This record gives sequence, structure tokens and C-alpha cells, in this order.
Amino acid sequence: MAGPALRGAIVPVTAFQQNCTLLWDDETKRGVVVDPGGDVPRIQEAIAKTGIAVERILLTHGHIDHAGGAAALRAALGGIPIEGPDLRDRFLLDGLAEQGRGFGMTDARAVTPDRWLAEGDTVSVGPHVFAVLHCPGHTPGHVVFTNQAARFAHVGDVLFQGSIGRTDFPYGDHAALLRSINDKLLPLGDDVSFICGHGPGSTIGAERATNPFLR
Ligand SMILES: [Zn+2]
Repeated sequence: MAGPALRGAIVPVTAFQQNCTLLWDDETKRGVVVDPGGDVPRIQEAIAKTGIAVERILLTHGHIDHAGGAAALRAALGGIPIEGPDLRDRFLLDGLAEQGRGFGMTDARAVTPDRWLAEGDTVSVGPHVFAVLHCPGHTPGHVVFTNQAARFAHVGDVLFQGSIGRTDFPYGDHAALLRSINDKLLPLGDDVSFICGHGPGSTIGAERATNPFLR
């Protein structure tokens, strides 16, 4: 990953192969875990391997493959704060156990973040400051984390390499998702690289040029 001492590692979790992501500062070894959907022991192994001190858990949205392991990881790491998503995903976080039953994931637990996030907020990854963008459509309270200095963003399930987030949920909104991408993600700049919730990452420029859902 490009950027001043900002590092990232992906730990695929759950049957959905969700990209749980470790982000950290390579000089201070302070970092965060983004979207611990499950498989908490595997996440803890990855944390141990990098040797980082995890200071907080960040959630992009309330789907089980992103948030199902957040409560267990918070407890395992001594009660560090969970930050995000936007309050409009509260109904999803409250219903994580029910979400899990539908997929046979019996270890998912409801979780209440220590801090809800809103457009314009910032979150810290060690000394690196990330801006919070509210990007609804896939879920009502989905947020994206972006660091312009490092030319990097974590976009969750908003935008993928060659695809975009699903909106075939009762609360999904395809038009809102396209507005989120066009109004908030594309303006970040073509050279901004991103990690997303599933599959390989990409750059804003590559998706602007080739993503069939954006034309
Ligand atoms: Zn999702």
C-alpha cells in the first residue's frame, strides 16, 4: 500500500470471504481492525503476526460478515472502542444474531458501537487521520474511510473491482448507492487505491474507466 508508513493486511473471514482489514502505522505499530465479521481467532493470529497494538475497531456497515465478530473481538482485546457505522445501521447491528441464524452463523452477537460516525467525522489509525464519508445505498448507514495523504480508502461494500454493492435488500437503494459513488468516491481522485469488502482492491481511476455499473 502506498502512503507514509501506512500498512494494511487482509484477513478473509466468514463463509462470505469478507476482507477483514488490519490497518496500521509502520513506525509506531499502532493500528485498527476494520470489519471483523467473524473468525475472531484468525483475526487475533493476524494481529499477533504483525505485532501491532490494536487501538480500535472500525465498522463500515452493519452486515453480519462485517460486524458479526465485533463484540467478541472487542472483548478479546480488552474492551477497545468500536467506532462506526452511521446510526442509520443501528437496526442491523441490533439484529446481528437474527442475521446470523439465517446463515447458520450461531456465534454472531448484537453490538453497540462506542461511537457512531457521521459524514465529516474523522477516525485515527495510529497517527494517521481518516475522513468519514457517509455512503448510503447498500445499507442506510454505510460509511467509508479515506486518507487523502496516503491516497487510500477503505470502501466496504460500496464499490468493488468491476462491481458495486448489492441493493436487493428491503432497505437497499440503488439510486442512493450510485449517488454515493459518483458524488463521494469518484471525486477522491483517480490515483486513490482502495480495499473493499470482498475480492481484490482497485483504484478509483480503474473503476471510473472500466466498471460496467458506472456507465
Ligand atoms: Zn454488506
